[in-house]
Amino acid sequence: MEKECPFCQIIRGEKPAQILYHDHSLVVFKDIHPHAPVHLLIVPRKHIRSINDLEQEDKEMISEMIWRAREMAQEQGISRSGYKLLFNVERGAGQVIFHVHLHLIGGW
Ligand code: AMP
Ligand code: ZN
Repeated sequence: MEKECPFCQIIRGEKPAQILYHDHSLVVFKDIHPHAPVHLLIVPRKHIRSINDLEQEDKEMISEMIWRAREMAQEQGISRSGYKLLFNVERGAGQVIFHVHLHLIGGW
């Protein structure tokens, strides 16, 4: 847990967010500046800076994130129309929140 991290703050309930799903390892909430009709962020409870900082023990969590994205896409009714799953990794790729998250973008 990181004091200053906005996603840790959301996970701790200190910052508001539209949370659509949560379990023991993940939280899913709406992106505050959506790039498409559906734009969700799948976020592990564990604070990890970026994909570069993953460890062996995080492999199951990453797999759960992708599975959850699939489930959320179904729930949002965008499975067939299509969606993008995106990790921005480090500043050069546009990462601005340094807590790993998977973008689920679709609904066009
Ligand atoms: P990235 O560029 O991959 O680091 O993406 C960070 C995403 O987090 C951006 O799409 C932001 O719009 C989104 N974001 C930032 N702050 C919040 C917040 N408080 N609640 C929801 N989404 C946020
Ligand atoms: Zn964090």
